[in-house]
Amino acid sequence: MNKKQFEELAKNPKFISGIYNYCDRWCRRCSFTQRCMTFALCEDKFDNPQSKDISNKIFWDKLGDIFKVTLEMVKETAEKMGVDLNSIDLEKAAKHEERIHKIVEEQLYTQTAIEYVKMANNWFDSNKELLEDKADELKTQIEADIPGIKPVDEAIGIKDCLEIIRWYQHQIYVKLCRSAGGMIQDESEEIEYYLHDANGSAKVAIIGIERSIMAWGRLLNQFPQQEREILELLVNLKKLLRMVETAFPDARAFVRPGFDAIN
Ligand code: SF4
Repeated sequence: MNKKQFEELAKNPKFISGIYNYCDRWCRRCSFTQRCMTFALCEDKFDNPQSKDISNKIFWDKLGDIFKVTLEMVKETAEKMGVDLNSIDLEKAAKHEERIHKIVEEQLYTQTAIEYVKMANNWFDSNKELLEDKADELKTQIEADIPGIKPVDEAIGIKDCLEIIRWYQHQIYVKLCRSAGGMIQDESEEIEYYLHDANGSAKVAIIGIERSIMAWGRLLNQFPQQEREILELLVNLKKLLRMVETAFPDARAFVRPGFDAIN
């Protein structure tokens, strides 16, 4: 897809503007795929197994094409706005980013989020056998076809919980880093945009935390012998939720394009 085709696609009124900015990127589970330009672009570019395989050259060539078109458009927009990209002081910008990165890492909520990533990883690492045993048990029950027992539903439920936990595990941290960065762009002329974006990213993080809490809660029912470990994870997530709500009191009210309002 070249720049002209990209611009034509962007004009299509069926797309909800900016819907992809505050979603959870779980396209497989998203009900707005037909109204999302990012999804349409990915479908167009990454339309076969080779183009989705990061070890295949085709994937990198297609990604390179997207970057080329994006760069072209950034240059064009900068020109229209009278911004000379060559005049940007890269050293100063790098120092600014470094400062923001340091402050982001100092926030208690980003530290708690990274702690959660490690705790969840530890849980998965130490419970491989438990999960395998459960899978074997459910397989045997399916084969035995015992009336009144629904092993298929149980297996689907467990798989769903594991997928949810894995999907949001890192995303919560990443979104909170973005939110924290937005709150401390204090020297920027675009402070309003950054605050808006910080709240939007915090909302996505809140949704991820709540879905993870729900998934761990369901897993606890399946693995009561894991009560202590899972409760520790839940305590960490609940603590994180309170921290995020305190740091971003307006996040819940943030209106995500498409998801909270149909454009
Ligand atoms: S809005 Fe839906 S389809 Fe678009 S990028 Fe986000 S999850 Fe994927």
